[in-house]
Amino acid sequence: MVLKFYNSLTNKLEEFKPVHKGKVTMYNCGPTVYSYAHIGNFRSYIFADLIRRYLEFKGYEVTQVVNITDVGHLTDDGDDGEDKMEKAAKKEKKHPLEIAEFFTKQFLEDWNTLNMEEPEFRPKATETVSEIIALTQELIKNGHAYESEGNIYFDISSFPEYGKLSGNKLENLTQSRVESDAAKKNKHDFVLWFSNSKFKNHILKWDSPWGEGYPGWHMECSCMSAKFLTPAFQDGKFDPEKFETIDIHTGGEDNKFPHHECEIAQTQGAVDKPYVHYWMHAKHLLSEGEKMSKSLGNVYLVFDLVKEGFSPRAIRYLLISGHYRLPLNFTKDGLSAAAKSLDRIDNLLIALYAIDEEKDGNEQAATIISELKLTVEKEMDNDLNVSGALGALFEAVRELNKVLDKIGKTQAQSFIGEFFSLDKIFGIMDKLVLDTELIPEEIMDLVQEREIARSNKDWSVSDELRDEIKAQGYEVKDTPNGPQVKKL
Ligand code: AMP
Ligand code: ZN
Repeated sequence: MVLKFYNSLTNKLEEFKPVHKGKVTMYNCGPTVYSYAHIGNFRSYIFADLIRRYLEFKGYEVTQVVNITDVGHLTDDGDDGEDKMEKAAKKEKKHPLEIAEFFTKQFLEDWNTLNMEEPEFRPKATETVSEIIALTQELIKNGHAYESEGNIYFDISSFPEYGKLSGNKLENLTQSRVESDAAKKNKHDFVLWFSNSKFKNHILKWDSPWGEGYPGWHMECSCMSAKFLTPAFQDGKFDPEKFETIDIHTGGEDNKFPHHECEIAQTQGAVDKPYVHYWMHAKHLLSEGEKMSKSLGNVYLVFDLVKEGFSPRAIRYLLISGHYRLPLNFTKDGLSAAAKSLDRIDNLLIALYAIDEEKDGNEQAATIISELKLTVEKEMDNDLNVSGALGALFEAVRELNKVLDKIGKTQAQSFIGEFFSLDKIFGIMDKLVLDTELIPEEIMDLVQEREIARSNKDWSVSDELRDEIKAQGYEVKDTPNGPQVKKL
């Protein structure tokens, strides 16, 4: 089966092929920690978590970076307005880093509440300043950036591809609401480094070759992605030759422009390779038909919903259930319906667990499971069609309920293992409903790894894995309906 993702850069469904076989590098634009992240923001992060989980399910080794923006993101996404962090700090009469620490902590708690996997790196913009200065110097050196009135600007006329991702070609941009700044050559040039005296009251500032100042928002993501996912930065120095194209970069749809467009210009202005291969953007979560956003005030927070009695699993289920390229409207009724759907899965798992009598393996039941696995993979391979995959899951629940009396203990235990193995993708099932000792995750991981080896006809690896499973006290049998696992 071939995994395909919709690439926002080409506006096409493309086969996924990472730069290094079997390994994936992925960067997800993270939160600006001046306030609470709402479930709209989490729709974008959960989407990234789903990509990660699915790639891992397919056997890839994923290196994921989710940054923390703690400086430089201005209130209007462009170069005007105040730094969001400084504005919040002033209001609360605190230091911006105190504000950042408070909201980062809550963000990480919500992240865990929603059962999201931990990325390999969570860098902060304030810890990436030397890299930002190095990349800015590189861009000045090769004619893509210039100094004016103390600030450093990216010269978009030097980068003809500007606009390729968002469709905002230079000629169309003249219509935009961006105010002209006399210091810029072109009104759409954007700031790489702020040192203009008008920013002298900024609390967070660093020495730079252009005077004390702080970085432009877009720079941090170009630098953190290159620093943690490629060997381009060594001791804060930038070596363009060592840069490697990053496989996947994600964000919410509003990140396409100007943020990601500017990231592309900055990085490709300095290196000879594409910055990112697959750009993937999640459509917005809506509330009462409008984008959920702090400025509209129609936001819901994870911990508030949990306090109201909604389960984290239901929130997660609701956020992943719609295709990421379709808008999703959030309502509390939708959340209650999500909880009911999860009950159906729980009830089946409990019923399977309660089976005590041994019987011969039932072929009809085995077929339901093997078809479920095939359909889930087929749907997920198709640009993460979670709704199709979850549809198949509920169909299988319905069908298995009809044949429960034909299923014996060994087969039931094996099915429970299969459900939890599939749940590595979704993260919505709960082992606690069974208060039991299931086939452990590590064993199901080995079984899954062995399935991948078998599909690659890598028999020696497959045999080694069988031995390893056995050494850990479990037996895996290959049946026409897929592997069956049993405690020895
Ligand atoms: P911010 O903290 O404003 O930088 O946003 C963090 C991430 O959340 C970005 O990737 C945004 O694109 C994304 N985002 C913001 N609002 C929504 C929404 N209503 N639905 C989905 N993603 C969103
Ligand atoms: Zn970003």
